[in-house]
Amino acid sequence: MHDSDPNHRLAQICAAMASAAAQAGRPTDATMLIAVSKTHPADAVRPLIAAGQRVFGENRVQEAEQKWPALCEETPGLALHLIGQLQSNKAEAAVALFDAIHSVDRVSLVTALARAMDKSGRRPACFLQVNIGDEPQKGGVPTAALAALIAQARAAELPVAGLMCIPPAMIEPAPYFALLAKLARDHGLAGLSMGMSSDYETAITIGATHIRVGSALFGERG
Ligand SMILES: *Cc1c(COP(=O)(O)O)cnc(C)c1O
Repeated sequence: MHDSDPNHRLAQICAAMASAAAQAGRPTDATMLIAVSKTHPADAVRPLIAAGQRVFGENRVQEAEQKWPALCEETPGLALHLIGQLQSNKAEAAVALFDAIHSVDRVSLVTALARAMDKSGRRPACFLQVNIGDEPQKGGVPTAALAALIAQARAAELPVAGLMCIPPAMIEPAPYFALLAKLARDHGLAGLSMGMSSDYETAITIGATHIRVGSALFGERG
């Protein structure tokens, strides 16, 4: 069965990424695929590592701490990105484990991360998560508060790589991706973490530098 073969899924996604990039006149390697392995056990991740995938995303610090040290020991050169909400009291653990953090959304977390980085000497790239549709139930900094958070992150000397968003569900995401791209441009930020299984091709045509793809690679989460 083709669809249950992770190698085949990975190849399909890479082909779709290349074609979206070509359509937009962007180089294929301008977008990094983050394979979101949350909820999937190490045994489900190994075939993708064997197929050459090196960058993975997790949404919980504790799950990542249980799953990844062994995998990282087996295969040097893996990169791990935190894509889920982070509590300030887990900042030290996150800084110790992850190479990038996509969910920086408030000043208390900026402060906790800066302290953890100073203490450990590790400096994972930080993306500020924007509540791009200004939805009441959604995580991320409200668009109106973004400028202040960027200033605070820069003052704390966090390595701010860019912006991240999850657009509102069930509606056309392109305008939200375009808004995130504009906000990043306005603030001189190069990184754009946007696009998931259902909309990564659209995100690439609008300038995504990082796409976060889970179910299209691993199948539906249980
Ligand atoms: C789970 C998750 C993804 C991946 O979602 P899929 O629809 O399975 O590709 C991407 N980004 C974030 C923040 C997530 O929590």
